[in-house]
Amino acid sequence: MIFDTHCHAYWRGLENREEAVRANMSAAGVCGSIQIGADIESSRLALDTAIRWGAGAWCTVGIHPSDCQDISVDSCEKIMRELDRLRESRSDKVVGIGETGLDYYHLTPGKEASQKEAQFAFFAAQARLAQRLDLPLVIHTRDAAADTIGLIKENGVRRAVIHCFSEDARFAEELTSWSEEIRFSFSGILTYKNARAIQDAAVYLPLDRILVETDSPFLLPAGAQGENGVNEPAFTRHVMDFLKTLRPEPPEIVEQIVWNNSLAFFRISDKFFLKAGQRRFPTGDHAGTGISG
Ligand SMILES: [Zn+2]
Repeated sequence: MIFDTHCHAYWRGLENREEAVRANMSAAGVCGSIQIGADIESSRLALDTAIRWGAGAWCTVGIHPSDCQDISVDSCEKIMRELDRLRESRSDKVVGIGETGLDYYHLTPGKEASQKEAQFAFFAAQARLAQRLDLPLVIHTRDAAADTIGLIKENGVRRAVIHCFSEDARFAEELTSWSEEIRFSFSGILTYKNARAIQDAAVYLPLDRILVETDSPFLLPAGAQGENGVNEPAFTRHVMDFLKTLRPEPPEIVEQIVWNNSLAFFRISDKFFLKAGQRRFPTGDHAGTGISG
């Protein structure tokens, strides 16, 4: 069983073929998904999708660095209140805050300083919200590795996932030693020919730190036949199968541990995935709903 810990199925290219998207997920063994919010409107859509999909689907609420960089820092608290109201309306479905983070790739020339300042402020606010609610933080980072590590430490962020991991083993090492509750989520980028540093990190990391995702509709994995080239949650299977080729553990153990990691990190009970009479996954250090080290 595979868990897509980061997708946007409400987005263009996926939102109008929901039935096929869900059928493809079942066929690929992708039984769990988390719909990720990137601003107030998409957080609402993420929640609506999670509710509509029922068991096996959850969501986050948050504001992406590129979506907050042109918003006045003064409205930060107001936006946090709105996100929190949304969460409160269905706290059973909202399992994280974000995606937040830093994105220096999409800065506007001439506006870099003020846009970075906004990204910092919205990160700090979402980190506080996540801490207050005891929820994990979903972190995006692009062309901003050193500052992202700095922000995580300054804000005392311990329980977080670096989503769509595209840094190297040194970056991973710095954060694994910072907190036992940091996870690294690998996307289709892992399967790309030029992704050697990312693949090295996927081998270096302890398996219990690893999650997988699609970030669909973006980042089609190598070898996946997406409708009109669009990525979809079912292709978490491609990421998982590629990860298995990299890891020293037996393939079935890789799939099982990464599944257990997903439930533990987001504190999702496995009761949502058990049909009557079905056997639970073997329990052990990685099972249960707490975070294992
Ligand atoms: Zn995303």
